Amino acid sequence: MSPESQILQQLPSVSKILQKESVQALINLYSREFVLEGIQECLDQLRAEIRSGRLSEQTLSERIAFLDSTVRSKLEARLSPSLHKVINASGVIIHTNVGRAPLSPHVAETIEEIATGYSNLEYNLSVGKRGHRDLHFEERICRLLGCEAATVCNNNAAAVLLILNTLALGKKVLVSRGELIEIGGSFRIPAIMERSGAILKEVGTTNKTKVSDYRDAIDRETALILRVHPSNYKIVGFTHRPQLPELVELARETKIPLAEDVGSGLLFPTSHPFLREEPSVQAVLAEGVDLVSFSGDKLLGGPQAGIIVGKKKLVDAIRRNPLMRACRVDKVTYSALEWTLIQYEKGTYEKTIPVHQMLCADAEQIKARAERVRDLLDSNVFRIEIKPGYSLIGGGSAPEEQIPTYLLAVTSGQRSVNELERGLRESTVPIVARIEDDQLMLDLRTVFPEQEDTIISAFAEIAAG
Ligand SMILES: *Cc1c(COP(=O)(O)O)cnc(C)c1O
Repeated sequence: MSPESQILQQLPSVSKILQKESVQALINLYSREFVLEGIQECLDQLRAEIRSGRLSEQTLSERIAFLDSTVRSKLEARLSPSLHKVINASGVIIHTNVGRAPLSPHVAETIEEIATGYSNLEYNLSVGKRGHRDLHFEERICRLLGCEAATVCNNNAAAVLLILNTLALGKKVLVSRGELIEIGGSFRIPAIMERSGAILKEVGTTNKTKVSDYRDAIDRETALILRVHPSNYKIVGFTHRPQLPELVELARETKIPLAEDVGSGLLFPTSHPFLREEPSVQAVLAEGVDLVSFSGDKLLGGPQAGIIVGKKKLVDAIRRNPLMRACRVDKVTYSALEWTLIQYEKGTYEKTIPVHQMLCADAEQIKARAERVRDLLDSNVFRIEIKPGYSLIGGGSAPEEQIPTYLLAVTSGQRSVNELERGLRESTVPIVARIEDDQLMLDLRTVFPEQEDTIISAFAEIAAG
């Protein structure tokens, strides 16, 4: 018998392992099948290691003695959710990689009530009949924006798809060449257009499109004029984009609907210094655009959704599109969206919606918070400076606006900046920071005050090695 087969024979049988009290406890906690899978996996791993000659008899007996706790850790690791919270210290407020707009804890209370029970989602209680789920949001958003009708779907990409498919299936849609954009995460206007069944008719050039370019392109096959807010880039220099009123006039004259994808979902014009250039849904509607679409989880500060507002006749047609059924949202989204809109109605959104709280946070406030964190970090291990810097709105909004902030700039004589970054990223609650000028930068603008202590503990963990 080879030495390996001899060692293999020392592996305990599954039934022997199952007899252990600690393993019985695991079965009571989970189920027999689940624990058996864990045991099999551990045994397979040991066998593989023995065969490769990596395991001596001595180590094997130690591993067997601890087999039950190995099984336990394996099962626990498998059960821990893959989606979990992270702390966003990047200073990018609307960051798609970390889930865009965070919702207020107060939304969670509202959601819980709706999600864990039955609701009047599609039941009109005053007449005792089937209702429409849009009822819970349409009147509210129409009041806020002064529009005729509104509907919600899964996200803004779906909203654009629905508009195109409903109004221009097999027909031409005019889009300026300067607006044929790609938004991060592979949303490309020409690709969506193709899948919608509409035919893209490019007008103008990359840097200059005049209203006459649209006019010249119109023929009997033209069903829609689409304007797209080029959220994440800007063409500068020798450029021209028609003024909205010119396009509205052309649309009226030719009786072709005009739709605009504004993207970020800033509801109203605001005096906020960093949002002045951002088109608001209300202003675009007021200019006379027939349909406007935007995201729920960018500047609106709500759940992931695509919102379409505008003329009743057009919104009704979209609602009747069978694809709408494939893109509709659930009760949880309606609930979070309604809560969000109520904040706008009350006029408290800058105080209650996290995205706006972060946007409005004053740099001096952030500096004071950064100083407190600095004073609690181990100055023997870390060298911390507080430096003026910039936060970004993100989500394709106001790409050039840099919001003044203060950054915690961390270096260490004992750890490289990459090790520090990885240490934070791999800590119990992962922390996303950025590296700049060979320093680790943390921007507390996007960190909730109650998360600061977690950051301090993470640095303590790193210091402890
Ligand atoms: C973000 C954005 C989209 C995509 O919206 P999702 O809600 O992510 O689907 C589409 N158009 C514009 C202009 C955007 O800014």
